Amino acid sequence: MRLAVLSGKGGTGKTFVSVNLAAAAKKAVYIDCDVEEPNGRLFFRPQDVVSAPVHTLLPQFDAGKCNGCRKCVDFCRFHALVYIKEKPMIFPDVCHSCGGCALVCPQKAVSEEKRPVGELEIGVSENVTVVTGILNMGEASAVPVIQEALQTGFSYAGLTVIDCPPGSSCSVMESVSAADYALFVAEPTAFGFHNFQMVYELVRLLKKPCGVILNKADGPYPPLEDFCQKEQIPLLHTFPFSEELAALGAEGTIAVRKNEALKHTFQNILRQIGGENAL
Ligand code: SF4
Ligand code: SF4
Repeated sequence: MRLAVLSGKGGTGKTFVSVNLAAAAKKAVYIDCDVEEPNGRLFFRPQDVVSAPVHTLLPQFDAGKCNGCRKCVDFCRFHALVYIKEKPMIFPDVCHSCGGCALVCPQKAVSEEKRPVGELEIGVSENVTVVTGILNMGEASAVPVIQEALQTGFSYAGLTVIDCPPGSSCSVMESVSAADYALFVAEPTAFGFHNFQMVYELVRLLKKPCGVILNKADGPYPPLEDFCQKEQIPLLHTFPFSEELAALGAEGTIAVRKNEALKHTFQNILRQIGGENAL
């Protein structure tokens, strides 16, 4: 089972839920797609870590072969190319590495060069293989690193937990699109509820089965509960604000490895969403 854990905003406890679900399974792979701020490894502290660079392909233009036909510029749907001073010029941050400009060039004047955009770290923490995507500072698009992290993570057996980026951007879409189930982590505030609705809209478009965990809730939160009832989204569990969990989180400890009752809680969440085979 591939389980994507999402939140409309940062700070809701998405990584807390992702890490503990993976650790509560018999065998799991945890894929950190929150590549701008990959915090899961701080909890897992994986061993035997190997790392590999992630590249994208960036077009290069051979001025000696180019005849100025501008077919490449006209082709680029992302407007990453302009024709200036009698040669094509590229805006690397806008290029999606689709390779189209090289294909349409009649002069074979376009080649592609690797450009590093981030790296993957792969290690093991007890029952969990930990795959971490890390985006280089200043990179505009997280998608290539997320794609590489997912492709690598999917090659391992066991329950797959995808820790998605916060928000509802295209990097979230990329992270959740191959999942079997979308699990939202929401918090009981007006801002949290609004952002939850935004990311729910995205998952609804993708027609994924989904459920909600309400985190840091001292009591019922009727706006979210009413919304879930209307949309028929199961509210799977509510975690109250807990000083013990906050302290464990602050010291980077995986709660289910310290607290047997909490392990049963996370295993029960897995059962509710059809992940009993992972236990
Ligand atoms: S398509 Fe090729 S030949 Fe035409 S402008 Fe672009 S690089 Fe030059
Ligand atoms: S690789 Fe694709 S996105 Fe990048 S410049 Fe060429 S056509 Fe545009």
